[in-house]
This record gives sequence, C-alpha cells and structure tokens, in this order.
Amino acid sequence: MTKLKIAIQKSGRLYDDSVKLLKDCGIDLKNGVNKLKAECDNFPMEIYFLRDDDIPQYVEDAVADVGIVGENVFYEKNKRADIVEQLGFGKCRLAVAIGKADHYSGAGFLSGKRIATSYPVLVQQWLDKNGVQAEIQEISGSVEIAPGIGLAEAIVDLVSSGSTLFMNGLKEVETVLKSQAVLIRNERLGEAQQQLLEKFLFRIRSVKKARNNKYVLLNAPNDRLQEIIRLLPGMKSPTVLPLAEEGWSSVHSVISENDFWDIIERLKDAGAQGILVVPIEKMVI
Ligand code: ATP
Ligand code: ZN
Repeated sequence: MTKLKIAIQKSGRLYDDSVKLLKDCGIDLKNGVNKLKAECDNFPMEIYFLRDDDIPQYVEDAVADVGIVGENVFYEKNKRADIVEQLGFGKCRLAVAIGKADHYSGAGFLSGKRIATSYPVLVQQWLDKNGVQAEIQEISGSVEIAPGIGLAEAIVDLVSSGSTLFMNGLKEVETVLKSQAVLIRNERLGEAQQQLLEKFLFRIRSVKKARNNKYVLLNAPNDRLQEIIRLLPGMKSPTVLPLAEEGWSSVHSVISENDFWDIIERLKDAGAQGILVVPIEKMVI
C-alpha cells in the first residue's frame, strides 16, 4: 500500500508542535524503538525523524514526500521543493543585531563589518538587496556570543522574544525574514502520494481553523438580542435558543481568535451575561 512519507525534526523547537499537529489530524504515531522512523495505524503515513537542516534535501530527493521545516531553513537551503501550507507554529524572525551601545544608521552601518550567522545565503541576499558589502562569518551555533569574543561586529540570528540578544549585550535593528513552520512537498509527487497529501492537507486546514476559532455561548436578554447577534458572525448565523427563564435567550456562535477580546468586550457592553468560551477541536467548513 502507498504511504505518504513525512520528515519532521527529530528533536528541537519544531518537534513537539509537529507531533501535536499529526495527533490533532488523527494520525497516531507508534513510538518506534529506534526513533528514526515511526509508522501509524490509522493513516497511510511513515514518519522520519531528521535534523531540520537535512529535511529540504530529503524532500528534493524524494526520500520523503513531504516535510515540516522552518521557512528560514527552507529558503537558506534553496532546494527544489514546494511550500504547500504555512503551519502557524515555530514563529520567529531572522534578525540583524548589533552592540547595544552602537548607533544604527541603516543598512550602511554594516558596510565593511563582519557579520556572524548560520544563514550565509539569506544574509548575502539581504546585503545585496541593500547594496551593502560586508564580510560573512559562518558559524553553526551560539552566534550571539560572536561580538563578545571579538569575532564579529554584528550578527544575523533567529529571534523570538529577543531576551537572548539582550543578555548578550545586543539589540535587534532589522528583520531579514519572518519565519514559521511550513509543510513542503517534493516537486514530482506520484498520483497516489498526491491524493494522500490532499487528505492530509484537508485535516491540517480543519485543525488550523479550529485553533484560530473559539466557540462562544452566552445569555442575552431578549430586548438586546438583535444587537448581540450583530456582533457575532458565526459560521452561518448564531444559534439562538430560549432559556427557561422568561425574557432570556442562549446564543451560540464561533468567533475568530483575532477579534476575540474586542468582541467579548462589546458583547458585555451590549448586555450579554454568563459568557462561556470553549476551544474547538476540529472545524470542517
Ligand atoms: P537540529 O538539531 O534539528 O538541526 P536546530 O538546533 O538547528 O535543530 P532548533 O533550535 O530546534 O534547530 O530550531 C528549529 C527551528 O525552529 C528553527 O529553524 C526555526 O524555524 C524555529 N524557531 C522558532 N523559534 C525559534 C527561536 N527563538 N530560535 C531559534 N529557532 C526558532
Ligand atoms: Zn538545524
């Protein structure tokens, strides 16, 4: 039987969320004894655990049909594969940082300076785009200590909160790339693999939608009902049920995570009471 072979990071920042995504898609991986490969019972899929840096190459070579990797790694490696879906986790940015005390005057500040990074390709592209000539020092880890030990005047590294930079006496001055985890696919998938991928993608999209939405239940006085309903778009329109208490209704709807706090406040102002917010497991539209 045909299986969809997927490569995910074997340990590190993308591991937990990648496994969680598979689980939320109803794909139960059996913990293999050797953690190189896992099978699953309920979806024709084989999971390979690899270093994230190797995933684009494996997908290009069709050792894996698809893979989960950060956009930062995908664009740095420049392998032949397609991005099919942004996954909404592993969010970070590839940023330029310089000494806290330095005065940043724009990209020209870096001219003639040494920049330490693990992303020489992306950094060179960014320098070219900004018409700046600088020397790239490629190092594979702990890039943030390079200025402190006199190896470079600036760094380009992944940042999420910025606290690592701060602790190393650096400040962030530019964003080279905003990144998140993506699903990539071999460019020439067979018909059967492509069909499995479509099935997998359908599940991923349902999970993503559910994560971005909340189910809301509230009580509304009937004389404010129209106003409250207007605030709640819902999937079609909100469900309204009479409460046992005369003059009140229960209203159910779905609201997007993005507008959540804004809408909740307006609902309260409009007289809604007993507002319950519940996570949604899957959402199929
Ligand atoms: P591997 O052993 O697989 O090569 P690694 O050490 O290169 O792992 P991790 O630090 O686990 O990689 O990061 C994997 C990916 O997680 C990054 O390439 C990036 O896409 C994403 N990521 C999200 N937030 C951050 C962050 N704050 N710092 C670094 N990477 C992050
Ligand atoms: Zn890596």
